[in-house]
Amino acid sequence: MCIFCKIVSGEIPNKTILEDENFLAFEDINPQAKIHAIIIPKIHIESFNAMTENIMAQMTTFIQEVALTLGVKSDGYRLITNVGKNGGQEVAHIHFHLLAGEQLGSIV
Ligand code: AMP
Repeated sequence: MCIFCKIVSGEIPNKTILEDENFLAFEDINPQAKIHAIIIPKIHIESFNAMTENIMAQMTTFIQEVALTLGVKSDGYRLITNVGKNGGQEVAHIHFHLLAGEQLGSIV
């Protein structure tokens, strides 16, 4: 079982920000900004390459709710999903990083 599936099952503890039947948002253990959330579907999907339109559509709404919950929706935030080896993906369970809470430096 992957590390994020273990978080979903409760085997590994997490600091939950928001949860529903299908998705979970929790604090990153090694934050790269004042606010750093990890947002995942509860089912195991390896990366963005394996996402479906239906799950992505549902996840879009969930991510917007996470931004609202964190109070960063109007000031703004950054969403990142690393894909595969060259994308720097370390955990093979699709996740979006939501970075916020400060002015972020330009990366592209
Ligand atoms: P990535 O490099 O895109 O695969 O990002 C994986 C992210 O998961 C990193 O930012 C890690 O800090 C984070 N992470 C790994 N294990 C945990 C954990 N147990 N709880 C919270 N975040 C984690």
